[in-house]
Amino acid sequence: MEHGLTGRARTGLIGAATSLLKRVRDATYYRITPERLRESEERLRLLIEGVTDYAIFSINLDGTILFWNSGAEHVFGYSEAEVVGKHFSLMYTADAIAAGVPDTEIARAAEDGVALDEAWHVRRGGDLFYASGEMTRLKADADGNPRGFVKIAHDVTTRIEAFETVKRQALYDDLTQLPNRASFFELLERYIVRAKQEGDDRFAVILVDLDHFESINVSLGHVMADGLLVQVARLLERCVRTNDIVARLDTDRFAILLREVVEPEDAMRIVERIEETLEHSIYLDGFEIHTTASMGIAIGSSARDSAEDALRDADIAMYEAKARGRACHVVFDREMQDRAALRLNLQMDLRRAVARLEFFNEYQPIVSLERSMLVGFEALVRWNHPERGVVLPGEFIPEAESIGLIVQIDRWVLHEACRQLRAWQVQCGDDALTVSVNLSIKQFAHKNLLDDIREALEQNHLAAQSLKLEITETVFMEDFETISGTAALLRELGVELYIDDFGTGYSSLSRLTRLPLKVLKVDRIFVNQISGDPRGVEIARTIVTLAHNLGLVALAEGIETEVQLTTLVALGCEFGQGYWFSRPVGADVAETLIGHRLPLLVVQ
Ligand code: C2E
Ligand code: MG
Ligand code: MG
Repeated sequence: MEHGLTGRARTGLIGAATSLLKRVRDATYYRITPERLRESEERLRLLIEGVTDYAIFSINLDGTILFWNSGAEHVFGYSEAEVVGKHFSLMYTADAIAAGVPDTEIARAAEDGVALDEAWHVRRGGDLFYASGEMTRLKADADGNPRGFVKIAHDVTTRIEAFETVKRQALYDDLTQLPNRASFFELLERYIVRAKQEGDDRFAVILVDLDHFESINVSLGHVMADGLLVQVARLLERCVRTNDIVARLDTDRFAILLREVVEPEDAMRIVERIEETLEHSIYLDGFEIHTTASMGIAIGSSARDSAEDALRDADIAMYEAKARGRACHVVFDREMQDRAALRLNLQMDLRRAVARLEFFNEYQPIVSLERSMLVGFEALVRWNHPERGVVLPGEFIPEAESIGLIVQIDRWVLHEACRQLRAWQVQCGDDALTVSVNLSIKQFAHKNLLDDIREALEQNHLAAQSLKLEITETVFMEDFETISGTAALLRELGVELYIDDFGTGYSSLSRLTRLPLKVLKVDRIFVNQISGDPRGVEIARTIVTLAHNLGLVALAEGIETEVQLTTLVALGCEFGQGYWFSRPVGADVAETLIGHRLPLLVVQ
């Protein structure tokens, strides 16, 4: 007995004896007689035929089908009678046949014993499905020639499709079906490597950022905003050439890879096409939406630039376009990179400034035009930069907003202004004196705002009526529910709200009326236009009248001339502020102004 011999060769004496005994017993039990062999073959055949999920079939050396189980019938759709005697390539796609896949499979199975096959196949009737299979070489006959092959295969289309979906979700944006940031980066990287090999040099990356998307989101709702994004995605696709790639990087930011840009003008033509397309309104559910975009363009060189370089340059250019007032495009240049480096420095300096409290307040008088006297001050923050000296808010507030430091700065300004005001009130015995503090939209939407304000008032024993808060129309870009909730609580507390720089933002009048505002500050540009030109006067009149019609008090900013002052008094504007009365001044100078009547001296 062959079994016993190998067993003995492998184990020790006792082991061999035990193993021999066991095998003799087994062999007796399963003695292989011709009947038993037939029986087991029959069992196996029935088993194979009964398998319905797995196609099991055999072929001869030329690929002619010899055996076909019911699983094969189920998986491939052909009955046994239809396929036995035919070549097994009938289940392959035309492309696979042209590429010689069936022959290669046989050759590999003959050589290696097994050949794997995972590919799209054709079912009877022409439907495609994804099969995973394995072709195995049958044992050679007595002369050593292989007898044929058996193949087991099954349909894994569902699994493959699920996998494709997951892969798609990882690479594509669900909403617009465009490649997402990760896949854009990969595509760009791959393109650059290939372009370098093929000697193509120039390409371009365009970043397209929709302007004021947040306010569209807030005013029209998420569903409409999503609809807009989908439409913009389709518009962008229409503006580029077939070889170019459009992707969605962020909420409202798209990226375009323009391949083979021979001249920078090629890229500019496409940018212009995008601008022209966006000039037309987009219609969504009967609404007409007008949207603009800020675009940054980087012309890259596959020899020099990496994907990271190109995206960074386009990003810098895009920020430059935003800074130039949006709705425009900017092509990256090296100077811009220097400016970006400056911005980074500014951000670092600001972090230090907040930690070391390098700020101080100046105060600009607010004058009652009706009573011809100073009634309070607006606190205006300044940064005492250790190297640059005094830096004005216009230079650092936007940056502080973008990195979130504004909340700490505004909180400091608020506390300091309250402390200073109380000191003046006590010194001058005038509790009616007020202070206005500017709040950034971020601070206004901050959950701690109310606590901060209560604390600042309590710590300084200040009445709520002494503090005024100035917000700009940008607050309307925040969630209106949050804003109006905060505003209502402030009113309850007794702190008045002013709307600053009125006329320069995007507020909707209906929303304006729904906020408990007290004062409308007429922006300096309108006051500036009051000169000899009657149109300027008319515009100022319209804004002052609007304020009154909304039940608000008007305060004109930036009064610089006597003409402006007398005109505003004649228009019934209640309060004024500007260089005509006084520039913003330090706390010590401000103190000397308290009690003054109009006209104040212009303090340089
Ligand atoms: P704003 O609140 O509209 O402040 C008025 C600005 O106009 C001040 O500029 C003031 O110096 C300037 N101004 C006042 N009268 C005249 C005038 O007659 N002619 C001209 N040409 N300008 C005049 P400033 O101090 O540079 O502040 C600029 C802006 O920075 C402020 O505009 C305000 O929006 C913001 N800001 C100032 N302080 C703070 C603060 O503590 N927090 C926040 N979030 N923003 C602040
Ligand atoms: Mg202000
Ligand atoms: Mg203002």
